[in-house]
Amino acid sequence: MNFHVLTLFPEMIENGMNTSITGRAIKNEYLTLEAVNIRDFAFNKHQKVDDYPYGGGAGMLMQAEPVYLAWESIAKKTKKKPRTVFLTPQGKVFNQAMAKEMAQEEDLVFLCGHYEGIDERVLEEIVTDFVSIGDYVLTGGELPAMVMMDSISRMVPGVLSNQESGETESFAGNLLEYPQYSRPEEWHEKKVPEVLMSGHHANVAKWRREQSIVRTAKWRPDLLKKADLTNKEWNYVRQLWKQWKEEESGKEEKRG
Ligand code: SAM
Repeated sequence: MNFHVLTLFPEMIENGMNTSITGRAIKNEYLTLEAVNIRDFAFNKHQKVDDYPYGGGAGMLMQAEPVYLAWESIAKKTKKKPRTVFLTPQGKVFNQAMAKEMAQEEDLVFLCGHYEGIDERVLEEIVTDFVSIGDYVLTGGELPAMVMMDSISRMVPGVLSNQESGETESFAGNLLEYPQYSRPEEWHEKKVPEVLMSGHHANVAKWRREQSIVRTAKWRPDLLKKADLTNKEWNYVRQLWKQWKEEESGKEEKRG
């Protein structure tokens, strides 16, 4: 997987990505990272890349030409017109399924906006995907690009030392991951659930599945609609919801 990032802050991308698991994957050549400084393609005296928006309004806009030239420098190297993601709060909200799908690409280009954004005309020419990392506004696209690259990397074979962990984590099968424990067996008078120390693999798997369902039903019920639950599991979920609802109304009655 080759990541190419169009940015005004290449050192931010390089520092972030060359750390920890992604850093190791770059060193071991499972990933390559190229951070292209858009400013290098601003052929004016002060390497200026922004200007006032037509029609007025607050802030400055990144201009079309330096962005286009920076993108073209990448497109000339890739075999075909590269898939190009513009990070924007207006885009489709990123999720695990998108990460998995994008991990199939050989090259991915991330375009990071700054200031008030980027001249629409260049977006029309080069962008294939408009992606947001959530309903809030950040100062630039660098953190969102790193969020996406981090999660996409985990789906690239060889990046995780234990490939399994990428597949059993939260969102796999639209369920959140079960709770986990490590040594010591008792901490602050809290004991590790006995079944986890039983060495009985089938019981451990059963307990983990149940915990995943309970957790998802409680924290992310919206995900359950897409999860592959048996009828028995659905009955269990309905029973939990009923129980929690009763507990909630009991608490409200007490509060008066
Ligand atoms: N004026 C823009 C708007 O209302 O859509 C927001 C501009 S924002 C201050 C500057 C840049 O940060 C954007 O061009 C985008 O690249 C990035 N950005 C901000 N929030 C983001 C989010 N939630 N997801 C992805 N990128 C974001």
